[in-house]
Amino acid sequence: MSLVDSLRRLSDFSRALMISRTELARADRLDPAALSHLQQQRLERLVCHAKRHCPIYRDHYRGVDLHHPSLGALPPVTKGQLMARFDDWVTDDRLMLVNLERHLESLHQDELYLGRYRVTATSGSTGQRGVFVYGRAEWRRNLANFARLNERYVGVHPRLHPRLRVGVVGATSPVHISARTSLSAGVGINRVLRLDARRPVGELAAALDAFKPEFVVGYPSVLALLAHEQQAGALHLSPAKVATVSEVRTPEMTDAIRTAWGVDPFDWYGITEGGVLASECQHRQGMHLFEDLFIVENVDADGEPVAAGEVGHKLLITNLFNSTQPLIRYELSDMVALDSRPCPCGRTSRRVTAIDGRSDDVLMLSGPTGAQVAVHPMVMRRPFLGLPMVRQYKIILEEAGVRVLVVLAHDAPVEATMRKVRAGLVAALADAGAAAPGIVVEIVERIAREQGHGAKFKLIESRRRQLSPTSP
Ligand SMILES: [Zn+2]
Repeated sequence: MSLVDSLRRLSDFSRALMISRTELARADRLDPAALSHLQQQRLERLVCHAKRHCPIYRDHYRGVDLHHPSLGALPPVTKGQLMARFDDWVTDDRLMLVNLERHLESLHQDELYLGRYRVTATSGSTGQRGVFVYGRAEWRRNLANFARLNERYVGVHPRLHPRLRVGVVGATSPVHISARTSLSAGVGINRVLRLDARRPVGELAAALDAFKPEFVVGYPSVLALLAHEQQAGALHLSPAKVATVSEVRTPEMTDAIRTAWGVDPFDWYGITEGGVLASECQHRQGMHLFEDLFIVENVDADGEPVAAGEVGHKLLITNLFNSTQPLIRYELSDMVALDSRPCPCGRTSRRVTAIDGRSDDVLMLSGPTGAQVAVHPMVMRRPFLGLPMVRQYKIILEEAGVRVLVVLAHDAPVEATMRKVRAGLVAALADAGAAAPGIVVEIVERIAREQGHGAKFKLIESRRRQLSPTSP
């Protein structure tokens, strides 16, 4: 990385800290009416900008009255639509997808494209790949948001003597937004050890044991495995804080982490389309949405709003700070519930109280009459709640039926556990109105993570080609 890029990174980081402690701190204290006024102002500016500079939005909004637009009047957009016309979406003519892909391939650290843009991508392991570009001012907002959640939600502060040791287990490629954010925040204040979640758990444990992190951040699926290592005596960490990000965290994973390290993990909601969307506060009653930076709508399969407390089919996200690549009512297939009641911490932002999975985790199975029944991911995960001897599992729907991969604790009774897993799933599927397909339980040593730089862990996966769920 060039000296100029390093200096830019330092300047971006220090300005981000200032933004976090001034502008974002003020936004955290806004009452709901003031917040909604701020959102509307930012939305109007963004829509006006998108209409002027993005041919794709000009076409998309043809016939829509854009004078003081109300959110609901704007047709939503999908990643597929935007990526298909990428060059008509970005607001700088010099940004062309073909060149950005080349830049992504050559990325080693926090290098800037054209001296000002940071380019990130989703791994595209499931569905369409997305490429997301941030100008410097926009990236500073992302960094400021990251500083806000560390300092004021989790309570982690940079320390100079000795420096704070942060252990991160997740994606390591700078193409991935979480790795990139920590790279560009890595200006030497904290000591950060970043480990690839795809490495064998024994290797991760050895590296963490040697480093002794005070703050551990990672994918919940891998932190839960490490927590089991600690309980088995193979790891000896005593972190003051733990945070999980990027995947569904099941109650079993939370319990494993709490038991091993004696701390309640914070949960963060990260998206490539904008960084961290929400974070838990010290009360752990759901993740507070950062509503000064994002407008989040929870909707059903038809795009109609769902009531507070109900699980929706997808989210519509409007990123209020990225004008290089406007995202206005952009569909995310996450199925969540939102809570708008006040939190004991005093913040008034809505909270994500349940992440049930993604709508593509809904499995389509045959019912007794042969009609298709949509089976919610919670149904499939529930049987594992009472099975502490199961360290990790993955449910795969194949042409022939359901295959369940299970990693067991060392001393678990193999036959009995296999029977319990099978019986639990059969009962859960019957409850959901599905005729039980063939269920095969397979005990394995380890379960591979997804392909691609994201390296996430998918609990439920459909490998049937012809049946893709379109509604719950
Ligand atoms: Zn709170």
